[in-house]
Parts: sequence; structure tokens; C-alpha cells
Amino acid sequence: MQPFEYYKPKDFDEAFRLLTLPDKAMYPLAGATDLIPHTRDGVWKPDGVVDVKGLPGLRDLTVEGLEPCCGCAPGECLYVGAAMRMNEIARSALVRSHWDMLAQAAAAMGNEQVRNRATVGGNLGTASPAADSAPALLVLETSVLVKGPEGDRSIPVEKFFAGPKRTTLKKGELIVGILIPKPPAGSAGVFEKLSRRKAGDLAVVSVAVMAYPHDGGYRWRVALGAVSPTPIRSPQAEAVLNEGYDAAHIDEAAAAAYGCSSPISDVRSSAEYRQMMVINVARRAIRAVVQQLQS
Ligand SMILES: Cc1cc2nc3c(=O)[nH]c(=O)nc-3n(C[C@H](O)[C@H](O)[C@H](O)COP(=O)(O)OP(=O)(O)OC[C@H]3O[C@@H](n4cnc5c(N)ncnc54)[C@H](O)[C@@H]3O)c2cc1C
Repeated sequence: MQPFEYYKPKDFDEAFRLLTLPDKAMYPLAGATDLIPHTRDGVWKPDGVVDVKGLPGLRDLTVEGLEPCCGCAPGECLYVGAAMRMNEIARSALVRSHWDMLAQAAAAMGNEQVRNRATVGGNLGTASPAADSAPALLVLETSVLVKGPEGDRSIPVEKFFAGPKRTTLKKGELIVGILIPKPPAGSAGVFEKLSRRKAGDLAVVSVAVMAYPHDGGYRWRVALGAVSPTPIRSPQAEAVLNEGYDAAHIDEAAAAAYGCSSPISDVRSSAEYRQMMVINVARRAIRAVVQQLQS
């Protein structure tokens, strides 16, 4: 593996200075579960890594003291610092209280060892089409909070991914955390993942489905992972479910999700198998949400 320098800045100014060193490939580093394998395999070639775990706010998990910046009442959004680890998220009583969708996705990631290191910021930063947190964050209407040398900004997660392994972050920018509005009482959500093994493997297909109470019915959100260049929503499947969620609508919505997908073949699956499995996994996830709504 090519050697690289390791830096651990104490504040954002120092981090931005390091991340924008001229003519150097500098990478933020969190849990290193993607960074080390990708560097070892020569996919990424860092001259240096900037450990972000000690930066202010990156290890916070809270609903307190947040600006009412995404349409929800003060104190009703969940803030998850970018350096929070998947096991911390999966096991958090706060996350599970109203944002269980995120806990489900975090628990489905990799294996125990990986979840003990892997962070949500790193999962977004890698921008894998199969990133497990992404479909969950898409249906949870999440904002990605970013700081950079030119200031702060908030990016809707739908606009965060630019392509396979590409984000819309600019040079020097860091994810500091994510902000998720509290789903109203009566909401239900399920994350389903199909992979080759039960643990320790990326998704062949993942589906997140949320139903939000709305106008006496439900407003649905459906997102897919591992079946297109970036994690995506399926507005067509959502539109079908907004009209009804009986067996016929569920089948139609699953077929609509299939229609949105454009997978590739890779070591995990052929494109054909992936696309067929969208129907099964989406149907299973929607049925599970309906079951929650009716219980
Ligand atoms: C055995 C194994 C199994 C895995 N299984 C899964 C799985 O089932 N599902 C899944 O989704 N992933 C899986 N992964 C991939 C990986 O664990 C996740 O993507 C993880 O969330 C990456 O987080 P990290 O903290 O380790 O990131 P790192 O490796 O530290 O960084 C990953 C990328 O994000 C950037 N980055 C990190 N933090 C920030 C930040 N705050 N701001 C901006 N950029 C940042 C880095 O520069 C780098 O480009 C697996 C990995 C392994 C090794």
C-alpha cells in the first residue's frame, strides 16, 4: 500500500488548510473501513489523510439546541454527527424512538467489527450506490450538513450523490452531520436488504419504505440502493402507493420500482437478477410497512 501522512486537526480551520494543500490528494478519514481497502487496492491514492473524528460536533447525537432549519419545530429534528458509528446509531434509544428506519439500516451494515468503526459520514462520503444508510436517509427526508473553507451549507441528501463514488462536496468540504425531521406519530418504515451473505456484505438490492400520515391517508416514500449509479427514490412507486396500498397497489408499486432501476452486473450479482430482485424486496418492504400501519 502506498504510504501517506496522517493528520489529526483540532479545529475546522486546520482541517480545511490540510484538505486544501496544493497538489496533494488529501482525504478525510473517519472509520477507515473504506479508505484503507480502497487505498490498498490502489483505487484511492492519498498523499495524506485528515482524521475528522475529533472535530467539534462530529460525535454528537442529539435533538437539543438545533436551529429549526428543515421545517420541523425546534427540538424535533435529530442531529447525527458524521463520525457517529453504525453500532452507536443502531443501538441508540434516541434514534430508535422516532428514526428507527436509520437504526435498521445501520444494523444491516457489514458485520459487528465493521459497524464498530464505520461512520455515517464515511458511508455518505464513499458514495457507493449500495451504501446502506442512503435509502434510509432518502426516505427520512434528510439534510447533509457541510462545512468548508467557503462556509456552511445544507444539502438535501437527494442532491448529495453525483455518481458512483462521487459526491457534490467541493474541495476541502466536510460532512459535519445529518439532520432528520421527526416523522409524525403514526408513521411507519422498513429497510430491507438482500445480500449474498447475511452479514458482512454489500447489498445486491436494498429498499427503504416510509409511510407518513397525510390528509387522512398516507404519503409514501420509496428509495432503492445498489440498482442505479446512485441511491435513488422511486417517485413512480410512491405515486402508486399514495393512491392505495392493497395487494394490487403493492404489486404495481413493486413493478414501478423495478422500472426505476438500472443496475449493473458486478461480483455480487448480474444486472438481470438485481433488477428482478427489486420487485421481491420492494414488495416485501411495502408489505411490512402496511403490516405496521395495520397493527
Ligand atoms: C468487510 C466490510 C463490509 C462492509 N459492508 C458494508 C455494508 O454492508 N453496507 C455498506 O453500506 N457499507 C459496507 N462497507 C463499507 C464501509 O464500511 C462503509 O461505507 C462505512 O460507512 C464507511 O465509513 P468509514 O467511517 O469507515 O469511512 P472512511 O473509510 O473513513 O471514509 C470513507 C470515505 O468517506 C470520506 N469521508 C469520511 N468522513 C467524511 C466526512 N466527515 N466528510 C467528508 N468525507 C468523509 C473519506 O475521505 C472516504 O472517501 C463494508 C466495508 C467492509 C470493509
